Amino acid sequence: MVPPAFAEFQLSPEMSGLPMVGNASVIEDPSRELTLEDILEKDWAEFQQQEKNKTVKGMTSSAWWVMLDVDNQTSSTIDWVLESIYTHTDYLDLYHINGNGEVSTILTGDKRPFDQRAISSESFAFPFSSPAQSQEKIVIRYAYDEIGLVELSLRSWDKKTFQDHSSITYYLYGCLFGAGLFVILFILIIHIPTRLPEHYWYLGYVIFVLANSLANTGLGHRFIWHDSPYLTDSAHIMITALAFIFAVQFNRVFLQTKQAMPRADWLLKFLLGLAISSICFYLLGYRELSVKFLLLTGLLLAIMPIIGLWAWKVLKRTDARWYVLAWSVWTISMLVFIGRLSGILEVSDGTLWISRMGLLLETVLLGLALIDHVNVLRAEKRASEEKLIKSLEDANLLLEEKVQARTADLEQAHQEAVSMAETDELTGIGNRRFFFSRGENAFQLAKRLEQPLSLVMIDIDHFKKVNDSKGHAAGDTVLKRIAEISKQRLRSTDIHGRIGGEEFAFIMMGTGLKEATAFAERLRKDIEITAIDSPLGNINVTASLGISAMSSQDQQLAALLHRADEALYQAKSNGRNRVAFL
Ligand code: GH3
Ligand code: MG
Ligand code: MG
Repeated sequence: MVPPAFAEFQLSPEMSGLPMVGNASVIEDPSRELTLEDILEKDWAEFQQQEKNKTVKGMTSSAWWVMLDVDNQTSSTIDWVLESIYTHTDYLDLYHINGNGEVSTILTGDKRPFDQRAISSESFAFPFSSPAQSQEKIVIRYAYDEIGLVELSLRSWDKKTFQDHSSITYYLYGCLFGAGLFVILFILIIHIPTRLPEHYWYLGYVIFVLANSLANTGLGHRFIWHDSPYLTDSAHIMITALAFIFAVQFNRVFLQTKQAMPRADWLLKFLLGLAISSICFYLLGYRELSVKFLLLTGLLLAIMPIIGLWAWKVLKRTDARWYVLAWSVWTISMLVFIGRLSGILEVSDGTLWISRMGLLLETVLLGLALIDHVNVLRAEKRASEEKLIKSLEDANLLLEEKVQARTADLEQAHQEAVSMAETDELTGIGNRRFFFSRGENAFQLAKRLEQPLSLVMIDIDHFKKVNDSKGHAAGDTVLKRIAEISKQRLRSTDIHGRIGGEEFAFIMMGTGLKEATAFAERLRKDIEITAIDSPLGNINVTASLGISAMSSQDQQLAALLHRADEALYQAKSNGRNRVAFL
């Protein structure tokens, strides 16, 4: 006897993925011992009406039974497809009971060979042909070997729309995987030459995201690892954990959390621990714990935009802009995923594809973040190189300035030494060395240019007496004053020196004997009339002067000096205080 259902699902010739959830009756079988007969004989009070959207029953070890009454009230046969969307169910047993109570059975699921499926599709799809004016019953049992996510969403399609929908889905898969492969190629070509560790983590992440898409869509099971029940069962969990590990490591390296954000780094290390533990638990057989750890990791990764925002706004990391955007997309995908699990959002193509495309978009945005990142690193490197060059240049400049200053100091010291070596300490005029070295040069120059040149020697008369009567200091004062008087009278080109104790000499350039004699006479008179002021009263002295002029026979200054000296001797002999020349 077939019990009446809560609600009936009305078939129609056109059905484009109509959700059947609200029309199903559901019962949980915790011991997994019920058979189809038990279900059909069960008291209806034990069944529940399936709530809209609440198709996810969570991680459970129970078997779940769904019963549907399907009516074709039209006057023609309807060919249609029933689809169970969730692709990871281990065992899915479908019983079709026609109007005459005849039962046909289709056994499928992840743990059964792919060829056994009624339609070759990643999701579980069952074709039916319901006669006009018929009433049929469909009973489906969902179960896992141990534990797994039970998701009961069912959709109905007319045959043609189902095929169209499949085509569109494959087109989208093509886009998804094509774009993913493009991103991988892009990294290999553009990023790998930079040899930054960020790129390796990123590459790993993108590869696992793609592999994860293969596993989650069921495409992997259908086309790649259909002979491996182990991969079919575990790939989507293991690959997700690996993707998380690579994502977390990428985040750590990209944001340099270890150095720049130690607390965020701790959190990321914790996430790393969660993902690794998830793999370990899975391998040890604690499947439920493994999936819970994985979900927690995914959930906590949803705070990455905040960490990124911190790096961008507080730490002024401009390359974190794309990064924040990328992880915001992740967070949205994660929220949609959770919304689906919790029944807030319905399990539909929209919500499924938001997550899938979200992940792809995230990887593309992370790729952009990386390009930005490399640019920032390059700019930083350039800036620090420029800074180094600038500081080297500054150091050079400083050194140059110091060398120049030191050279100038040395030059000045040298000049001072030279002038000290050529200056008479007492009178401040040139000394004997000065007089003879400059005098010889002037002599040779005048000779070559055939210009006149005269030499005047001057000797103070009876100077000894001055010393004797007034003291040596007074004698010094007299010497200084005589040097001053003669200096005032001379021209700047004349060479003036103290060549002995109280003897002075001048070389007068461009001056012949006559002019020199006149000059000497004026000087003699000046000395004679000058009262030299001293602490012991005024002192009057006279001087004798000897003059010689250059002649064509003279070869050296010495000849001139000799004659001037003789002339001076004559002046002294002739009574002093006079001028004589030779
Ligand atoms: P004459 O008229 O023959 O030139 O007699 P004189 O005394 O000037 O000549 P003499 O050459 O005999 O003496 C020169 C004196 O000049 C001897 C020395 O004491 C003095 N004298 C030499 N150098 C200095 C000096 O630097 N300071 C002082 N105060 N006296 C000096
Ligand atoms: Mg003398
Ligand atoms: Mg004298």
